[in-house]
Amino acid sequence: MNQNQQSQDFKCKDHPEKPVLFRCKSNACSEDRIFCLYCQKQNKHAQHYTEDVLSIDELDQFLIQKSQLSNGLISECQIQFQTTYVQFIIQVLWIRRQQIKTILSTTGT
Ligand SMILES: [Zn+2]
Ligand SMILES: [Zn+2]
Repeated sequence: MNQNQQSQDFKCKDHPEKPVLFRCKSNACSEDRIFCLYCQKQNKHAQHYTEDVLSIDELDQFLIQKSQLSNGLISECQIQFQTTYVQFIIQVLWIRRQQIKTILSTTGT
């Protein structure tokens, strides 16, 4: 998997400098399905927010629970999500790890 190449697909289209924090799963939604806090503040997904929008933190919790239950993380997730969705989650978690590393390396000196 080429992480650098794939990570470009998971940036907010309107605010590419911002980390993606939310994911909309509504099939009827015409907005970008992954988006940042700025988009969220613009209420782009307000009409179906409670049903369809997940924060990445919620996905984190889901994955942590799954990884504690089983090593077969991908196959567990595939039961509930499409493969592309699982790849999305893993990619976002990887980006977040890189961001944390960057924060630690810039503030640690
Ligand atoms: Zn945005
Ligand atoms: Zn939406």
